Amino acid sequence: MLVLSGCVDDAPNTPDTPNIDQSNLQDDVLFQASTIDALLEGLYEGQMTIGELKEQGDLGLGTFDALDGEMIVIDGEVYQMKTDGYAYSVNDFDTTPFAAVTYFETDESIILDESLNSSEVGSLIGEMLPSKNLMYAIRIDGTFEHMKVRSVPAQEEPYPLLIDVIADEQVVFELEDVEGSIVGFWLPYYVEGINVPGYHFHFIDAGREKGGHVLDYVILNGTIYIDQTAGFELSLPESAEFMNEDLSRDKGDELHTVEKDEK
Ligand code: ZN
Repeated sequence: MLVLSGCVDDAPNTPDTPNIDQSNLQDDVLFQASTIDALLEGLYEGQMTIGELKEQGDLGLGTFDALDGEMIVIDGEVYQMKTDGYAYSVNDFDTTPFAAVTYFETDESIILDESLNSSEVGSLIGEMLPSKNLMYAIRIDGTFEHMKVRSVPAQEEPYPLLIDVIADEQVVFELEDVEGSIVGFWLPYYVEGINVPGYHFHFIDAGREKGGHVLDYVILNGTIYIDQTAGFELSLPESAEFMNEDLSRDKGDELHTVEKDEK
């Protein structure tokens, strides 16, 4: 495999994107709406509009009001991947209870020319990260021999805990020989409670038709793009739902259970 640093031709990059005032770009900021602990606690009420979220970045992930599917943000477009396995375009006035985005600019890329499973890719990226104490946005474009994703259905109030939704209602899809993009983050251990430490990825196919939260995959070939991010902005909801919730409950291993594969 080939490791490239610095400016890379054809790498995903914001400055090529029209309609963005580049003088206002805050490229190296990971922007986040609400916290993962609030989501674990069942706070699924949308707080920020998709229009507002799109002003904060062109790549990222999250979910939607009432936990209605998995969100992926790629090339400035937001898609809602529902439990029928399909990706839907989203209105700017739709809302999200939890999402994280950044303006993606490639700092480093790795060309993959051999088949690797998800843990091998994880190790490879881990070796590439200059420090385990910074934040990284990651995009992997490639051909996947296998892609295992999931989504979750919209919930009704009173909202159940996320761990119960995952246990009872998540829908898993297995895609074979699919071209597409993985989008997400590697975050340091100290974000625990706020976001997901380690890897968190969502996937959408090249036709922008199918995808979900990534559980497992095998990539045949592709390119990994890494964007090192030193800034972090957290936007907390000021809703009654958020302000009155007791977020101090010990959640044990719940985060790992809801984010990772069941194997
Ligand atoms: Zn996810």
